[in-house]
Amino acid sequence: MAVNVASEWLNACSGCEISILNTGEALLDLLAQLNFVHIPALVDSKYFGPLGDGTSLQIPEAVVGIVSGGVRNSEHKHVLEEMRKKVKVLIALGSCAAYGGVPAQANMWKPEEVFEKVFRGCVTTNPSPNPEDPNVPPWTPTCQALDEVTKVDITIPGCPPHPDWIADAVMALLAGKTEWKLPERSVCDTCPVIREKKSGGGPIKRMLANAEFNPEEGIDKMRCLNEQGIFCMGPVTLAGCNGKSGVPRCIQARTPCRGCFGPIRKGAKPMVDMMGALTSVGLDPKTLVDRRAIMNRYIGGHGYLTVIPARPAR
Ligand code: SF4
Ligand code: SF4
Ligand code: SF4
Repeated sequence: MAVNVASEWLNACSGCEISILNTGEALLDLLAQLNFVHIPALVDSKYFGPLGDGTSLQIPEAVVGIVSGGVRNSEHKHVLEEMRKKVKVLIALGSCAAYGGVPAQANMWKPEEVFEKVFRGCVTTNPSPNPEDPNVPPWTPTCQALDEVTKVDITIPGCPPHPDWIADAVMALLAGKTEWKLPERSVCDTCPVIREKKSGGGPIKRMLANAEFNPEEGIDKMRCLNEQGIFCMGPVTLAGCNGKSGVPRCIQARTPCRGCFGPIRKGAKPMVDMMGALTSVGLDPKTLVDRRAIMNRYIGGHGYLTVIPARPAR
């Protein structure tokens, strides 16, 4: 008998749902065993009934719940809590759900400062109405990962997560397992570039700097990007972004890892560890522009990014 699945997207961009569709041939096998009873990213559904006249959220019960996106407002929180009540196994899909994702960069400012800068004072758009309009769900104090709000059973990280791991995790559940996680290895552990454990020194270049490599040669002939002085988050980022095929995706494109799979293990201190990794090849972390934001690009939930009180004027 097919297993009922409910899916929801909160503070999300839909890239995670595209990854579900990109599961490819494995999806054909899975679809025979899964029955999607609720997936608003792909099939229209109304929270308060087809005519919008219900008085409570209408999310059907399911064995598996898949949620993408973090929690940024009261509606996200309500939907997540309702999902938790309705499903037996809750999967956090993608780095927004797992760690807060890029939107959690906003945790470096108070909500009022973000409203002022983004909604009212942005020079490239017309000023928007007050985001605290009563028709708009109010913001939560911070942008949170799902497990900061409720219990999460399985986390599939990545921005977006690789389809191989979505299929793998769901297959594990169908086989009766209740746990699934990626092995605790770093992106560097799966990166084939040449490493000499030293750089040329000098200020650290930002990620958009062009790497030096011979396009006629394979990736295993390119020098490590950190050693080329280009900031790469590989040392502190969980491996697996290229699914079961190995070489990290950004490195394959000759660009640095930005850290989208998040920390290698729960409780890790990627910023501290990354500063150690830079120092170990002779680079000075203080020369990296915007280092707090860049080193926590995808993981601003869980207290990794907070408002730093302004220093008193001297
Ligand atoms: S993890 Fe990435 S792909 Fe998924 S919702 Fe967040 S931003 Fe989009
Ligand atoms: S720092 Fe980047 S380029 Fe160097 S080995 Fe690690 S992932 Fe590869
Ligand atoms: S190399 Fe890093 S940033 Fe790029 S896809 Fe892999 S984990 Fe994400």
